[in-house]
Formats: sequence, C-alpha cells, structure tokens
Amino acid sequence: MSFTGINPATGETLAGTFEESTPEEVAHACWQAAAAFHTYRKLSGEAKAQFLERIADEIMALGPELLERANLETALPIARLTGERGRTTGQLRLFAQYLREGSWVDARIDTALPDRQPLPRPDLRQMLIPLGPVGIFGASNFPLAFSVAGGDTASALASGCPVVVKAHPAHPGTSDLVGKAIRKAVEASGLPEGVFQLVHGTTVEVGMAIVENPLIKAIGFTGSFRGGKAIFDAAVRRPEPIPVYAEMGSTNPVFFLPGILKDKGLDLAKAYVDSVTLGVGQFCTNPGLAIVKQSDGGDAFISQARLAMAQTQPTAMLTKGIYQAYTSGIEKLNSHSRVLIASKSETVVEGFATAQPTLLSTTADVLVDNPELTEEVFGPSSLLVTADTKEEMLSVANGLEGHLTATVFGNPDELAEYADLLEVLEQKVGRVLINGFPTGVEVSHAMNHGGPYPATTDVRSTSVGTNAIRRFARPVCYQNFPDALLPDALKADNPLSIFRLVDGAWQK
Ligand code: NAP
Repeated sequence: MSFTGINPATGETLAGTFEESTPEEVAHACWQAAAAFHTYRKLSGEAKAQFLERIADEIMALGPELLERANLETALPIARLTGERGRTTGQLRLFAQYLREGSWVDARIDTALPDRQPLPRPDLRQMLIPLGPVGIFGASNFPLAFSVAGGDTASALASGCPVVVKAHPAHPGTSDLVGKAIRKAVEASGLPEGVFQLVHGTTVEVGMAIVENPLIKAIGFTGSFRGGKAIFDAAVRRPEPIPVYAEMGSTNPVFFLPGILKDKGLDLAKAYVDSVTLGVGQFCTNPGLAIVKQSDGGDAFISQARLAMAQTQPTAMLTKGIYQAYTSGIEKLNSHSRVLIASKSETVVEGFATAQPTLLSTTADVLVDNPELTEEVFGPSSLLVTADTKEEMLSVANGLEGHLTATVFGNPDELAEYADLLEVLEQKVGRVLINGFPTGVEVSHAMNHGGPYPATTDVRSTSVGTNAIRRFARPVCYQNFPDALLPDALKADNPLSIFRLVDGAWQK
C-alpha cells in the first residue's frame, strides 16, 4: 500500500509516494539488525563516535532540501526546523564526546581476595553492554530531533545497538531524507547495513510487528498515551518481555506564588502565554496547567494572560488528527460546568488543521475533585486554576499524577516558605524548575526528560541527554576472567583510561 505526505497548512497532497512496509519487510529489517549487532556491539567508543559524527555531517549535507521538506510536512517554520536540525546534530556530537570519554559503561571492579576467611572472594568485574536491536518510533512533533536520527536513535546507536526505526507517517519525506543520510554514514563507516533500518507505516500493524519481533530487545517511543501504553502492553505480553521507554506527554503544572506575581506578574503572564503557544503548543513540556495563588497580583496576572492569549495567532498543527484531538480536548474540558473559556485568540483563521490558542479557567477545589481535568490537551492551550490558600495549592500538587516537569515561580523568601510544595512536586515529576518555563529542554549530561507513569512507562530513565544511553544497555559481571579475555574497560591497566569503581573507590 502506498501513501503520501500531506501539508497540514493547506491539506494538499505532497509530491512523492511512500510504501507501507510489509510484515516480511519488517521481519527482514529486524533480522538484518540482529545480524549487524554481532559486529556493531564490538565497535570501540572511538569508532562509534566517528560514526555518530558522520551521521551529523551527512544530515547537514542534505542542506535546505531537508528543511524545506520538513516545513511542508509539518507546517513548522524554517527557523524552528533549522534550530531543531542543530539540536539533532548537536546531540549526535554530544554522544560522540560521551563515548570518547568512555566512563558511561560504569565499570566496577572488586579484586580477588584469595585469603579472605571463611571464604575467598573471586575477581568480579562489571560493566554495561548493549542490549541488542532496538525498535524506535519517530515522534510527530520533532520531525528531526525526535525522529529518524533523533535522541532515541542517537542513544541506542551510542550504546552499541542497531536500530529499526518506524518513521512517523506525518513526515515520510523528511524521514526518508534523514534515513538516506544515515545509510550513507553506515556505508562510509564500513558498517553492516543492518545497523540502521527504516520502515514506513500508516497503520498500527507495522509498529506492532517491530514490537513483537523476537529479535528486538527494547523500544523507544514518543507520542500519545494510547500508543505508548498499547506498545508497552504488547511488549510485556511477548514470550520474552522487553523494556519499553515510552514518553507519553504531560501537563507540566506551573505554580505561581503571590510575591512574584505582585512584583513581576504582568511580565510572567506574557511569558506564560508565549510558552503555551510556542511551537503551536506541540511540546510534551507545554505548561498545560497553571495554578495561581489568589491575590491582587494573581488577578492582574490572569487579566494580562487573557489579553495576551487573545492577541495570539492561530497556526496550523502537525496533522489533521492532532488538530481534531486538540479541539475535542478543549470541548471536553469546557463541557465541565465549572471550567470556563477564559480567553482565546481573537483572530479566526480557517485552515485545514489550524488551531485557535485557548486559555481555560477553573478553581483548585474543582480540579482536586475532578483529576481528569489535568489530562494533557496537546496543543496551544492551558488551564488556569486559582487557589485561595497555600493548602489548596498543596492539595492540587498532592493529587497530581506523574508528569515530566513541574515549576514553581516565587521570590526567594516565599520559595523557602513553600519548600513543602517543592517536596511534593519532586515525587510527581522528572524535572522540577524554579522561575523558568519548562519548554526548551537542554540536551546535556544532567538533563532528565522522564517522569512517573503516566508521563512515561519507565520512571528510571530519560529520553533526552546522555543518560538516555543507559536505557539500551545492561550490566554483565565477569568472574575470574583472565585479563586478556576481559573487555578493555575492565582490563587491569585500564587501557581506556576511564573512571572505574575499584574496591569501592572511584579512580582512573
Ligand atoms: P501517536 O498516535 O502516539 O503515534 C506515534 C507513533 O506510534 C506513530 O508512528 C503511530 O503509528 C504509532 N502508534 C500509535 N499507536 C500505536 C499502536 N497502538 N501500536 C503500534 N504503533 C502505534 O502520536 P501522534 O500521531 O504523534 O499524535 C497523536 C497524539 O499523540 C497527539 O494528539 C498528542 O496528544 C500525542 N503526542 C504526544 C507527544 C509527546 O510529547 N509525548 C508527542 C506527539 C504527540 P501510526 O500513526 O501508523 O498508527
């Protein structure tokens, strides 16, 4: 079956047709990935680093064609896509540096104690090794940075795992171009073809065929709760269950305290609406819930936020389906008798998938009694919640499910007073922010982009930053191995010069 790309700004069919991968093709891709694993897993950190850098170079060599195609397929502006390409190549290069440094393998050595009483201790050496072929689902909202050569692919390849990527059907042409760049890098690096495989699909069957293939050893996913949970459940039902790292979005509550609202409320209101509407609100870190402490500053903040929202411009979303989910999400919230539309863009633009930015409002007691109101509405909207007291704010926080982020805006003295709120939030999310909006996720060593269920299916992991590599590796302990048979990371003279935990002390 063939399909085409669609321009979400106009509804027009784009040039080029793409073939839905057959079950046989998916099985062959998985088989090739498994065959390549035997070679690829043994590559040195330096060789993998060079390969990742080569992918980054080949992506840049695609030039404007990549950005133009992504713009047509996603309606995201060229400037945003240029930034996203920088993030994509930047994260590949960051993983390359991380591999060269090498200590990520977490080498641990307990030297033998032959004279220990009552029993001698054997020589024990542990490190992380790659899991095996990984299935990756490209995300619709980051056609470059979380798609074919995105964070999941970069971290899996960095750990030594071949990947089978399912392109997101919303940007097949962009996916093919990036796939071509990666294949060139594979060839130029002299690696087996199976290190990188790309499949297409517009139906769940293609993705499920990857998840259920016995040669696949882990899954990386970014998208809806429904999709992520279905994939997680299928992976658990396999005869050999495998880990699924699904990032399924979040409402990212932001708490505004009265002191800072009094001092900076008007500026914060504008910045909040900017953050809600950034990228047409199509970020998993979008601040979809704002809890405002009732006060004069709070009232001024809300009035200013309503004004700023009214002045926003409607913009095309990524797909018609995402637009429809957005409008029905707003309708569902608004159908609650105590949730009101506080403000929406005053400009009306009729378009194929054009969303009207919207602010809704309710009160803390309503939110506490109706936790379903905290569910994500993916797009440029946010629910403003007024709380009469600090206790109400704490009740809202205590009632939250797992989210990716939570933020508190406050002056230094009131932040100290609200330390208990920060403590509750730490239990609910993967990243707690003070005085900054959650959109704009740094790709770095200390970043954590994850969180308790239902934000993700594995609270212990991040899908952004170098720590993401650990998702695709597992520990192995080598007992009483002769030095010559040990991996370099564990050899006596530490030839890789990495940090290792030797008899309980970190050393190089
Ligand atoms: P999606 O529906 O979750 O799809 C993401 C990918 O997973 C697609 O390749 C899709 O394939 C596949 N998939 C979905 N359900 C599946 C299943 N049951 N079995 C196997 N594969 C499955 O996400 P989307 O299309 O990007 O957007 C839909 C909604 O997802 C949005 O409205 C938004 O709520 C949410 N979303 C969240 C994030 C986030 O940041 N976490 C990002 C983007 C979207 P097919 O399309 O071929 O079925």
